[in-house]
Amino acid sequence: MDPPLLDTRPCASPWDPVPPVHSQYVTRPKTRLEFTFTKSSSYSMPCEAASRFLILYGSQRGQAQSLAEEICQQAAEHGFTADISCLSNQRNYNLDSEITPVVFVVSTTGDGDPPDTAQKFVRKIKNKSLPHDHFSHLRYALLALGDTNYANFCNGGKTIDSRLQQLGAKHFYATGHADDGTGLEVVVDPWIEGLWDALKKTFSSMATSDQQDAVLSDSTQDSFHKTASGQEKNKSDLEVDLHLLKLSEADSQKGKGIESDSRDVETVSAVLVASLKQSVPPLSQSALNVPALPASYLEVRLEQVSTEGETVPSDKDGYHEVSISKAVQLTQDDAVKTAILLELDVSNLAYQPGDAFDILCPNRASEVEELLLRLDLHTRKNCAVQVNLLKNSSKKAAKVPLHIPQNGSLEFILTWCLEIRSVPKKAFVRALVDFTQNGSEKRRLLELCSKEGSADYNSFVRDANVCLLDLLRAFPSCLPPPSLLFEHLPKLQPRAYSAASSSLQLPGKVHLVFNVVEFPARPEHPARTGLCTGWLAGHVSSILRPLGTVLASERLGTSALPKVHVRPRPSSTFHLPADPSVPVVMVGPGTGVAPFIGFLQQREKEREVYREATFGEMWLFFGCRHKDKDFLFREELERFVHNGTLSHLIVCFSRDEPDAAGTVSTPTYVQHNLHLHAKNVASILLKDKGFLYVCGDAKNMAKDVNDTLLEIIGNELQMDKLDAMKTVAGLREEKRYLQDIWS
Ligand code: FAD
Repeated sequence: MDPPLLDTRPCASPWDPVPPVHSQYVTRPKTRLEFTFTKSSSYSMPCEAASRFLILYGSQRGQAQSLAEEICQQAAEHGFTADISCLSNQRNYNLDSEITPVVFVVSTTGDGDPPDTAQKFVRKIKNKSLPHDHFSHLRYALLALGDTNYANFCNGGKTIDSRLQQLGAKHFYATGHADDGTGLEVVVDPWIEGLWDALKKTFSSMATSDQQDAVLSDSTQDSFHKTASGQEKNKSDLEVDLHLLKLSEADSQKGKGIESDSRDVETVSAVLVASLKQSVPPLSQSALNVPALPASYLEVRLEQVSTEGETVPSDKDGYHEVSISKAVQLTQDDAVKTAILLELDVSNLAYQPGDAFDILCPNRASEVEELLLRLDLHTRKNCAVQVNLLKNSSKKAAKVPLHIPQNGSLEFILTWCLEIRSVPKKAFVRALVDFTQNGSEKRRLLELCSKEGSADYNSFVRDANVCLLDLLRAFPSCLPPPSLLFEHLPKLQPRAYSAASSSLQLPGKVHLVFNVVEFPARPEHPARTGLCTGWLAGHVSSILRPLGTVLASERLGTSALPKVHVRPRPSSTFHLPADPSVPVVMVGPGTGVAPFIGFLQQREKEREVYREATFGEMWLFFGCRHKDKDFLFREELERFVHNGTLSHLIVCFSRDEPDAAGTVSTPTYVQHNLHLHAKNVASILLKDKGFLYVCGDAKNMAKDVNDTLLEIIGNELQMDKLDAMKTVAGLREEKRYLQDIWS
């Protein structure tokens, strides 16, 4: 029997319940989660209560912007009027005189920095001459976005939040800290849901009372802050709330429906296993709360003008097309990962060790081809695309995305402008439902974007890294128009690679090193390589050579060499100390060693030129799997040690067998070696005011190193963990503990 087919008409509220059409379906018992969310009372809000508020966003990659737009979109459905602006457009707003509530959505970038678009705003509010009550008239809420895989979680938002507080601004609703590491929606969805009540209370207090402060502090204790039993919590409990929220969500997923009909559930689960395409009870029988249909806002016309021959984006946005003069495989063929070094001709681009370069990479031709075929657009791939705003769209502040060029061909846009591999957000999944013919497929897509289907979305879409093409493969009757793709697919982002050289040693050139990222096949998608690293590996295959050999191609003219579009990405902090006598500790396993090769080349040259100068010690903690397979830059590092540039090279091998007797337990990871050299590390950082640099994997290594550092400092200074954390925070503040990490 087909699962229930739902009415997919656009919902009136963001979480309109969609009733099952068949009476046999069990109503889901109330879970703790449902108590945590007080249902927005938007339906009953009288029109005359409609009130204006302001949304300001600071976005680096478009996440914060799209959430701000979603809030703006939902505002009307809740009886509010919202104005929206990027924080960088300071002409659009004036917080000095803003008396209506303000909602900030701010992401985090780099080493816990606010996004580029918020930098000017941050500088402005950090002005020391501002009086402590400068923003005492301001009522605001802030949604901070971050990733717990990185240090300084949500620091972009926290920086703005704490400065606004210092200047007298008051929360009308508690700050949300959303974690991209576990899924932004875990926090974002309930935060937005609670926002409407908080706004309502704020407006009514503004309208009726001169006791604004008292009421505002009440409204901070809104639904987002109430426990299941209705007890109020204070702001510091927020992160605990969110943790509980995750747990209760997991609980509710586990226990949902089982009490009501456990025998049936067990019987059906024995036969069916949930997958991307298919759900099992209780979800398959549940009533669903689905997000509102996002308003469409783009009109796309395909003109029959041939745009054949279009190439990669031109020099705009600061990109330069450069030759790849060398490509060397640094690892043995039987190493677990393949690391490749590229040498680029960058004679017209300046950089320092510690900087990185952004590389533009296209989507895979085979995936673009398949997408075009699947969307019935293959014959029109060379048509010129004209994108305009849809007249009468209800989307607020709708704009034609700047990354979609007018008159570019469809194929070009899908290849160079849109991240077609991005994981579709729930709003996109919701929008796809309306372009799906088959009833069962519609139902499954609705489940995946529903509140009840959150666990399924997390396992089969988000954690499985499913992309649009994977969804289209799984749901054959889904046929979205190009406008939907343009509305929902984010901009294709360049990938950054740290300079692994110094221009003092290598004038006019830069070395970059990367591992070819490999994603194994899963039920939801075939095996694939990372978008940029897989592409680069193929792109340089004609000139790729093993370490220690020379190819004839290295003597070829530049016209025969592969080319790539790059843009320098300078780092504001990740550089050698200005005073060369200051000692440094560098921690860089795997390709994380890249910037340190640049540091060491620079120092080697400086030592040659400034023979009289005093140079501080340089320690390098490196790690790889096998001594003989993936010890990157081994010869060069040994040369640095030999000529005194590198004072200590401390290496570990995580997969090499212990000695023949099996008695020696060698350190496995860099943090173990840090422990073994704890006294030296502590002395360099605490006595000699030295620097600690960490580069590489954000998910595990950077966290483990940070924990080890806390232990080292705690032991050395005989202090508890909290004080050790404060000391480490102080090192970060002084920019003596610097990270260049990625996941
Ligand atoms: P992508 O296709 O973008 O995939 C990368 C991530 O997407 C994965 O880690 C995973 O989280 C997720 N993902 C996508 N698809 C799947 C799937 N099917 N299954 C599981 N997960 C999936 N890298 C280096 O190697 N060397 C460097 O020197 C270096 N320097 C950097 C400097 C900076 C400042 C930054 C920000 C990053 C740096 N990186 C470096 C990382 C680099 O930019 C890329 O992120 C990395 O090379 C992967 O790119 P990709 O396009 O091949 O992978």
